[in-house]
Amino acid sequence: MTSPRAPHGPAVFLDRDGTLIEEVGYLDRVERVHLFPWSVEAIRALNEARIPIVMITNQSGIARGFFTEAVVDEVHRHIASLLAPGGAHIDAYYYCPHHRDGKVVEYAVACDCRKPGRGLVDRAIREFAVDPAQSFTIGDRWLDVALARNVGGKGILVRTGYGLDEERQPADGLSADAVVNNLVEAVSWILETVGSRLQAPGSSRPKPEARSPKPI
Ligand SMILES: [Mg+2]
Ligand SMILES: [Zn+2]
Repeated sequence: MTSPRAPHGPAVFLDRDGTLIEEVGYLDRVERVHLFPWSVEAIRALNEARIPIVMITNQSGIARGFFTEAVVDEVHRHIASLLAPGGAHIDAYYYCPHHRDGKVVEYAVACDCRKPGRGLVDRAIREFAVDPAQSFTIGDRWLDVALARNVGGKGILVRTGYGLDEERQPADGLSADAVVNNLVEAVSWILETVGSRLQAPGSSRPKPEARSPKPI
């Protein structure tokens, strides 16, 4: 607990396909990247609240031989270039390239980083010193909610992408902390939740004013 890198705040673990950008199946070309119309605003609001945003995405298309890691990196640079003019940025882009049934040998493994495995959250905890118990996942699949359960945070299901269908077919034993229409509503829910934690008596956060709305 005395380490300067001890966990100290929330992060958002953000799904990519169907959540930040439109779901198009295996995304193998940057030309197929389409942000939702509200995505820039949503990311910027988290940036302004100083909550780190870590994208966590399963990209088994790499293991399946549909595209390479270089393509995924290019897609992520392209997403960053679409966010930047709006003053928005994602702090880190993590992906799992694996699948146990993949045909590319080096990636055809059972790993701990494919969601709902927690490997990539553990990487974020190391690199950003965030507290998973205070953190949030946002995604359009039950596996995104399951990731939150696996790390002890809150899970939000959005109705974009596969979300509407997922909502109609609840996963066994899983329920989301919130089900909302889209990413911008998820961010509003997070900011309200973080704000009410800060106002709660006995809050242990040292500098609540840093994350509160500016006084008028
Ligand atoms: Mg998704
Ligand atoms: Zn993996």
